[in-house]
Amino acid sequence: MTVFAGKLLRIDLGSKRHFEEEIPDQYYRKFISARGLSVRYLYDELKQGEDPLGPENRLILSIGALGGTGLQGFSKWAVTTKSPLTGTIFRSITGGNFGVWMKHAGYDLIIIQGKAQDLSYIYLDKSGVHFLGAGHLAGLDHRKTQMILKETHGRHTESACIGLAGENLIRYAVITSGERTASRGGVGTVMGSKNLKAISINVPVHKPSPVDNARFTDLAKKQVSILKEHPRRKNMTTLGTPYITTVVDGLGILPVRNFREGSTRAIEAISGDAFHTLKKAKAGCHVCMTRCGGMRDVTRGPFQGTQIDGPEYESIFAFGPLLGLTDKQFVVNANALCDYYGIDTISTGVCIAFACELFEKGIISKSDTDGLDLGWGNEESIFSLIQKIGKGEGFGGLLGEGVKRAAGHMGGETDFYAMHIKGLELPGYDPRGVKGYALSMATSNIGGSHMYGRPREELSGIVDPFTEEGKGPAIAQVQKEQALEDSLIACTFGNTGLDLRMYSELLTAATGIEEFKDTESLLKTGERIVCIERCFNVREGFGRIDDSLPKRMISEPLMNAGPSTGQVVKDLDKLLDEYYEALGYTGEGIPTVDKLKDLGIEELAKEI
Ligand code: SF4
Repeated sequence: MTVFAGKLLRIDLGSKRHFEEEIPDQYYRKFISARGLSVRYLYDELKQGEDPLGPENRLILSIGALGGTGLQGFSKWAVTTKSPLTGTIFRSITGGNFGVWMKHAGYDLIIIQGKAQDLSYIYLDKSGVHFLGAGHLAGLDHRKTQMILKETHGRHTESACIGLAGENLIRYAVITSGERTASRGGVGTVMGSKNLKAISINVPVHKPSPVDNARFTDLAKKQVSILKEHPRRKNMTTLGTPYITTVVDGLGILPVRNFREGSTRAIEAISGDAFHTLKKAKAGCHVCMTRCGGMRDVTRGPFQGTQIDGPEYESIFAFGPLLGLTDKQFVVNANALCDYYGIDTISTGVCIAFACELFEKGIISKSDTDGLDLGWGNEESIFSLIQKIGKGEGFGGLLGEGVKRAAGHMGGETDFYAMHIKGLELPGYDPRGVKGYALSMATSNIGGSHMYGRPREELSGIVDPFTEEGKGPAIAQVQKEQALEDSLIACTFGNTGLDLRMYSELLTAATGIEEFKDTESLLKTGERIVCIERCFNVREGFGRIDDSLPKRMISEPLMNAGPSTGQVVKDLDKLLDEYYEALGYTGEGIPTVDKLKDLGIEELAKEI
């Protein structure tokens, strides 16, 4: 017995056929699970140049090796695909129960391909896989959709679904399970392009068995005692990610007014404590003692009178300072509105901030915005614009293409105000104030993500965040570590205090695989995953020129940013050279044949 299910489920929506396939033992040893396995399959199955919204694109759902074992903070699941926003490989990680239900159903991965003729959903129960019509779910939000699916198939049913924006192919649509979303990169758009409204699972609970159960149980107890004592875990439990707002403001990297400034005088109004006053109940993922979520009342919009699990820090920055706002209840309501339509809060906020700055500069006017006054902090207009984006209506339809495409469409100088990397809208950390973050975001194989490799030592002040020297090897290292964690999947917030040694011991006890005893070998797995992602992108034509930052980051000093005031990224080229060298890539950012051999993936050399 092991914690691996040992097989994947392949679903072809076009032919309405499904297949079970064994996952080779070698794949588990080389890629572990989740992000690792998924990028390997996506690389192998997708030809160069496939349209992300075409039937050949794959939507790969995955659960980590330790998911479903009862271990704290390991129940998250991932979606891997080619992104319609960036054209790169992409992975988005989320919570809810759905991933563990996949494991109960007996699968480590579900690979969805093809396109259904009409809006459909897939239902898995103990009798098999069912292809069902979803006409009655068309246009419904995630709550109504999940409620109807529970009524139809039983209360034990867990679903992953899209909202109206996914059906409308808004490029940053999300996939929702419970109240949690796989938010970034348009994974919900890919699902919508396949005419797939939902995938639902109702199977008996089947808990995976660790190979060395006694050792695994001891380690699980040790994990709980580490978590109990850790101050950051306690902070997360009390305040959740909103506590980050004050930290980031103090560092001067809280994006204000479309990344012009780095802190706000009104920080108290949107601090972790401020959001704590709105918290009505705790919330969290399956088997997690941290429970970093929080239920808060919605006072406006279609979810008015209900509560949402949120907002997270990223939604606070996106509907707060980024738009010149510090109204905490507005943030909750805007977050709920995005959830209702099924759109990513970061991308939505960044697209609106882009429009607000163009409006301020007179580059666009009310005649471009369907009559909306997009002056900074205009809550009414911003709320209306979110609705328009969700519906793909008028000016909202243009912004729903993402900020890169919107700027491309408008032309002229608008590109300067479009805050994205490789087409993915930037998260809530101004790269100018933490040079490691600048490098990590620039080189991220999924575009401008804060979760591709967090420069923890810079953020916590152990290392000077302003120095550009020596950041290449450090960022290469944290990207490998993140890839490894995403392949387990270890929640970044729910596993505070756990180190590589602990992951190694847990994996070894759970799987019995000797290679996992060696932490260096695990780090090499992380590197292998980052490298395959890079190879995928190189095959798509990406190179050094795409490892870039928005022009503002390299030419305009950060303003009103406390300790980060005046910071700018001075020499991205030097940062890139260091990073490529640390990973054994060429000066063009392409893995060398020797590096591919070293990582045991030399077969990729022929395509790059
Ligand atoms: S810490 Fe938060 S995000 Fe992580 S598993 Fe727990 S509840 Fe989910």
